[in-house]
Amino acid sequence: MSDYTRLHTLIKASAGLTSGAYRDLVEEASKAKELFAAINDHYKALAEGRQIRPTFGNEMQILYMRDRQTFTFMLFPELLPLSYQIGKVIGAAYIAPSLTGTNLKELLESNVRIAPEHKYGRQEIVKVTDNEAIYRTYECADCYGLPNIGLKICVYESGTAAGAFEAKLGKKVEVVEEKCCANGDQYCEFRISVLDEKAVLQEGTPK
Ligand SMILES: [Zn+2]
Repeated sequence: MSDYTRLHTLIKASAGLTSGAYRDLVEEASKAKELFAAINDHYKALAEGRQIRPTFGNEMQILYMRDRQTFTFMLFPELLPLSYQIGKVIGAAYIAPSLTGTNLKELLESNVRIAPEHKYGRQEIVKVTDNEAIYRTYECADCYGLPNIGLKICVYESGTAAGAFEAKLGKKVEVVEEKCCANGDQYCEFRISVLDEKAVLQEGTPK
């Protein structure tokens, strides 16, 4: 067996472990207080119109970030579930505090306003009830224009959405990307499910 194949086996195993040990992952991440504080300050800078980098500010061409993500997932699709879990931690820490509302409909309406503001994409709500919703992203920064590589790669989007809604609702939330431009679709489509389980994540960065 080549090293490449072994690596796949190892990553696949760790992805399975991560979802099983999600509580541990959240606890481990919460130890990185300095990191959370720094990124928190970056979001504050964004809200106040302050630049993080003195010369170039906060914006850059998307291709570099997206190329490294696309090739990472293409070569190691086993990382997708792992990245989704990490996205949930990010969503609870940084997206949840900027959302308003007390039920899924209000929170989703508040959330879809962020994507065009950040030039991530244009989002549209297809359906929303108390515990389930479907929304789409058009011109997604992660995958628009890519050929069909047989993968739905916008796991950071689904992860951050799941983490943000979970922290806000106090119930476990899962989001699955069901359509993706990298999987032959014209847009990305996500299904949100609110489960009857207590949330693991809390809103905001660890104190
Ligand atoms: Zn996508």
